Amino acid sequence: MSREQAQNIIRDIEKRGFRAYLVGGCVRDLLLGRMPEDWDIASSARPEQIMEIFGAQALPTGLKHGTVTVKTWDGAYEITTFRTDGAYSDGRHPDAVAYTKTIEEDLSRRDLTINAMAISSSGRLVDPFDGAGDLARRVIRCVGKAERRFSEDALRILRAIRFASVLDFSVEEATRQAIHKQAALLKKIAAERILVEMNKLLCGTGCREVLLSYPDVLGVFIPELLPCVGFDQKNIHHCYDLYTHITYAVAAIAPEPVLRWTMLLHDIGKVDTFTVDAAGSGHFYGHPQRSAAMAEEICRRMRMRNADREEIVKLIRWHDRDIPVTEKGIGSAVSALGEESFRRLLQVKRADNLAQAEQFRWVGEKITAAEEILQELLQKKSCLQLKDLAINGHDLLARGYAGREVGAALQSLLQMVIGGEIENSREALLSALPEKK
Ligand code: ATP
Ligand code: MG
Repeated sequence: MSREQAQNIIRDIEKRGFRAYLVGGCVRDLLLGRMPEDWDIASSARPEQIMEIFGAQALPTGLKHGTVTVKTWDGAYEITTFRTDGAYSDGRHPDAVAYTKTIEEDLSRRDLTINAMAISSSGRLVDPFDGAGDLARRVIRCVGKAERRFSEDALRILRAIRFASVLDFSVEEATRQAIHKQAALLKKIAAERILVEMNKLLCGTGCREVLLSYPDVLGVFIPELLPCVGFDQKNIHHCYDLYTHITYAVAAIAPEPVLRWTMLLHDIGKVDTFTVDAAGSGHFYGHPQRSAAMAEEICRRMRMRNADREEIVKLIRWHDRDIPVTEKGIGSAVSALGEESFRRLLQVKRADNLAQAEQFRWVGEKITAAEEILQELLQKKSCLQLKDLAINGHDLLARGYAGREVGAALQSLLQMVIGGEIENSREALLSALPEKK
């Protein structure tokens, strides 16, 4: 997609006597000097008129909302007819949309001032709510009265803090107050839509600030986070309360949704597993398992993809395990997790450590040593996974093994190879195998 192509489409529309503008996210990103992800166009032409102008290139992808998609050689562009939204009786969707005559009216239905700007084909900025000023001041502000806008569509509450996180902006006072006051309205919003915003929020540069400032908002769909807020861990490893630790851990890992969700949920089982010993120190025996079980439920509730959920749960289950920094220790962790997940686990452990008390930073060196051992093992083409073994299931079936025995026998051979007890050769493996009657 490109600005040139979007301009071509705008000119094609204008040639037919209609008006058309670049609008929304792409205008915001252009003013920020960022590369827009998509180039949306708003036009005075009705959907059927756009269909007619672009013929076979046009697809009626969202006629209910007045949207037609135009396919070109370098991507698809959405063209939406200027519209206002009617009443919102359900707090999620307008009951009906009405087409309007002007771009200004169209901009007034949009959520945030920074998202309510347009650029004409001659390059003129249309900015009735001072979105450019808010961009310069780095402020998130609703178009119009925040309370009204949030009661129309509660997803805007989450969008407001999503943009605060992604852009690292602050939230204007009236908008901030309305967010806290109306957070509970998010209960009405479908999990799929919440997940889209949460993935972006968690990966934003201002994520830590936003998580710290709005636990009440996240708590509407992840109530398990709420008891973590202000929770005193009474443990020398920790210089922060539990929720503050979580926010540091999230910010300390690479901005990828699976990793960020893992850190957000890695310790939520601590509250339930908390005990205090005679000396007054806090312990959390079994918290990784407890957190993993809670994360499983949360990820299902959020309608996350199965593969992402499974990875998050697995990383949480393993996050606190002490892995011996030896070829054998690393080898068996890799054989259990797979190389990719093991690498992620090391990232998780590093982030967790960076979010703990300063005097335990030496653990980071252990993680670096583990990375080095992994590298050596991979270079030596060591046998780390079942698929690397010099024999496979067929060999065992041929020797009378059946069903579950096959996997179990291969696993125990693999552990012996990793432990250096036997060589990874066909001969050695077969002779290490107990004879079947
Ligand atoms: P991104 O770069 O993340 O896609 P975006 O601003 O383009 O950000 P979209 O969800 O693609 O976000 O929405 C496009 C535009 O539609 C927004 O810029 C905004 O003007 C408007 N918009 C989106 N969602 C809402 C909403 N819930 N209420 C009002 N306006 C909205
Ligand atoms: Mg967009």
